[in-house]
Amino acid sequence: MKLIDGKAIAAKMKEDIKRETLALKEQGVTPGLAVVIVGGDPASQTYVASKERAADSLGFYSVKKELDQGVSEEALLKLVQELNEDEKIHGILVQLPLPDHIDAKKVLNSIDIRKDVDGFHPENIGKMIIGDEAFLPCTPNGIIKMLEYEGVAIKGKHAVVLGRSNIVGKPMAALLLAEDATVTVCHSKTRNLKEITALADILVAAVGIPGYVTPDMVKEGAVVIDVGINRVEGRLVGDVDFERVKDKTSLITPVPGGVGPMTITMLMYNTIESAKRKRED
Ligand code: NAD
Repeated sequence: MKLIDGKAIAAKMKEDIKRETLALKEQGVTPGLAVVIVGGDPASQTYVASKERAADSLGFYSVKKELDQGVSEEALLKLVQELNEDEKIHGILVQLPLPDHIDAKKVLNSIDIRKDVDGFHPENIGKMIIGDEAFLPCTPNGIIKMLEYEGVAIKGKHAVVLGRSNIVGKPMAALLLAEDATVTVCHSKTRNLKEITALADILVAAVGIPGYVTPDMVKEGAVVIDVGINRVEGRLVGDVDFERVKDKTSLITPVPGGVGPMTITMLMYNTIESAKRKRED
């Protein structure tokens, strides 16, 4: 078993981004990222703070817009519009979840697709599916980068994705397919799930249930990617029962320090890509 050190891979990628940022700045362009947060949800506040820290450490121009929990949908849409028009901003991120009285879909759809660095806009998702140039969703794209970095050949492998959310499971399946894997998606209604996961050469777990993946679900020598971030008794744990599963795998990501750092780095990667495209306009 070898651990995939997401933190170390992310740090290497950040060095490259930093160099590119300097080069862009010399050409008069500073990559700009705007993060919008509504309300005081502690988990969202933590995520936003780490995104801001990452943007600052890379030399980006970073803006945080904090709105009250009770803000109207109209006011939020107006803010997104202003950011769409702001020349200094290349990436806009609206932290989810949004309060119930706001239609999150409407808000995400209002982001200019050229600034949709989260890759959640339906047009970007459509482009990803047909293989056109698009901002790719950060978590699944970060996983592909990790696998590349570790030299894992994806082509022809059987990849099983556990979970079918719009932000992780579905785009993960699409990106693995684009890399020529044979992909199976399992979800809460899947029958004989263990029999399917036990066939996986690459197993990606994104269900949000602590310790869900047990050794009997894993093939000897599989590559196991744990997307889960669950808080159990004040500790962060993944969707994989790491201690019991690790020795069965050839490669496995830890939680924390695996997929998480890659997600934030891919957001920065998309922002600098956006700044580069803008420069070429
Ligand atoms: P979600 O709740 O939107 O989706 C969970 C998926 O798991 C669903 O598609 C559901 O069908 C499936 N599922 C639920 N119970 C199941 C069961 N018993 N058997 C099989 N499948 C089952 O969650 P999400 O947004 O995709 O996130 C999943 C996990 O990944 C969460 O822990 C989340 O915190 C974490 N996450 C981590 C990162 C990161 O950067 N590391 C990013 C996004 C999400």
